[in-house]
Amino acid sequence: MSDIIHLLPDNVANQIAAGEVIQRPASCLKELVENSLDAGATHIRIVVLNGGRELLQVIDNGKGMSPADVRMAFERHATSKISQASDLFQLRTMGFRGEALASICAVAHVEVYTRRPEDEMGTRLEIEGSTVVNQEFAQCPVGTNIRVKNLFYNVPARRRFLKTDQTELRNIITEYHRIALVYPQVQFTLVNNDEVISDLPRCSTKQRIEAIFGHASKPFTGNLVDVMANTELVNIHGFIGKPEMSAKNSQQYFFVNGRYMRHPYFHKAILTAYSGLLAADHTPSYFIYFDIQPDAIDVNIHPTKTEIKFVDEQAIFQILLATVREALGKFNIAPSLDFTLETQIDMPAMPQQPTTIAMPRLQVDPNYNPFKQTSYPRNVSAGWEQLYPAAPVEQHAIQVEQPLFILPEVNEQTPLIQWQNKYILLPAESGLMMVHQHRVHVAILYQELLKQFDMQQGASQSLLFPEVLELSYEDVLTMQSLMDDLQAIGFAMDQLSPTAFTITAVPSQLGAVNPCETLLQVVHQVQDTGSNATQQWRETMAIALADRMAIPMGKSLSDAEMRDLLMRFYENQASQYLTNGQTIFTIITPDEVQKRF
Ligand code: ADP
Ligand code: MG
Repeated sequence: MSDIIHLLPDNVANQIAAGEVIQRPASCLKELVENSLDAGATHIRIVVLNGGRELLQVIDNGKGMSPADVRMAFERHATSKISQASDLFQLRTMGFRGEALASICAVAHVEVYTRRPEDEMGTRLEIEGSTVVNQEFAQCPVGTNIRVKNLFYNVPARRRFLKTDQTELRNIITEYHRIALVYPQVQFTLVNNDEVISDLPRCSTKQRIEAIFGHASKPFTGNLVDVMANTELVNIHGFIGKPEMSAKNSQQYFFVNGRYMRHPYFHKAILTAYSGLLAADHTPSYFIYFDIQPDAIDVNIHPTKTEIKFVDEQAIFQILLATVREALGKFNIAPSLDFTLETQIDMPAMPQQPTTIAMPRLQVDPNYNPFKQTSYPRNVSAGWEQLYPAAPVEQHAIQVEQPLFILPEVNEQTPLIQWQNKYILLPAESGLMMVHQHRVHVAILYQELLKQFDMQQGASQSLLFPEVLELSYEDVLTMQSLMDDLQAIGFAMDQLSPTAFTITAVPSQLGAVNPCETLLQVVHQVQDTGSNATQQWRETMAIALADRMAIPMGKSLSDAEMRDLLMRFYENQASQYLTNGQTIFTIITPDEVQKRF
């Protein structure tokens, strides 16, 4: 017997281990649903109360457990999925560590009903903080029904660490989508606070993608291109979004052997394949499923980690790049240009030796750009981003060093010229100032909107005919968190149904710009930038709204309008760049002009 060292009681050890596997309701849900899938369920129903902290319930029609097994299932390292170390290298199930249920029951009140098809009676088991408090026979359908109540009831620090119900629900939905996208053959139902928020019938992968992401603006329907490659090393299948599809709310999903993963290196392969096809700040949507021998990836994946290591990353990079390029090339209507792909690939450095892979020969037009513009004016509501040719990425670095200009003065007498209906020219002693008319307005509106968020007095204009905005459930959650700020700047709306709002008034500066499209863009931009602090999302919203509201390029301006723009710009700080790095004005100095003569 040692003096001060002793073994921890099981329930304490489980509670500590739970911290790793079960971090929040969403991770608990993931484990439960994966178990249902491993049990062969074809219908999985998920019930959530208050962001999952009060209740998380998963009901499946899988193979169920015997009375002895269900009791075992909650022991640590109890699993039916592997029995020896070598099994790890042939893994085809989602779970294998036998940790999830033990962890969950250490930090929650758990109640299970389960029955195998061959048994007449099922079992009911009740566990509180790793202790079985009740086990009895029970009448129940075939399958398993697990209720996890009061998550972290005995770990106050964890419980405090949870975010708002809305955020936890959003995490749950994210996890739900990651799983539902892999199992289109399984029906999923998600019920939140007694309301069915998602019901996904059995269907094809493509239909599943459309069912999940097709809601609001239907961006995916008819816009997905098939991707397919079967090689000795890996099989790849899936879908990519056409380049011209609105990429503001792009969705990016990689899966390997049925498991969601993040893979920045493979992401780079896809971006490379799309290079030249997308507008500056757009990213492509993709849903790519890799099928690979389990021993070609790192199997000892931590349950909560989504980054997965491949043995042959570089070779797979090339296969993926070629496959996506081919898919884009096939659909590309532009006249094809034969070029050898091998010389064009710009591969980020990887530590391993490259593996040579025979490339499919592709017909791709490298200059094809669906966003290429011909002439102004353009339809503003078509999306402000299309007003600009692809901006070089380096622009974002500019802000650091601003050249010291002496700004020419603007007063009632200053002569102003509008050039090409795009720029305002302003001759002065210090030089010839050229101002981008759209961006200068964006800069002004951006500052004004930021002030209005604080002062809550944005001028509002009622709509003659209220507009109805349809959103996906995920978007609704984002919308709800932005609601106060949107009202502060002049939007007025009511929630019509769980997923629809009526817009009755808009900020006066919005003018004739379509309010639904604008709000959708704002919601998606906030999601894309992952803004979750008030100041962050205000900035994101302000720049998105300002871009929509600002005078378009190509619009003819009166002398008074130009003067007003410049004077308002000067009242603010008159910085040379927008927060996204775009140049607002430039000055050609007398020296530069002199050199030309
Ligand atoms: P793992 O999934 O890693 O094996 P878990 O702790 O998640 O570990 O589950 C332990 C065991 O309980 C599983 O191996 C499985 O045999 C059984 N089990 C868990 N959930 C279900 C379910 N929904 N249906 C049938 N069996 C289940
Ligand atoms: Mg499991």
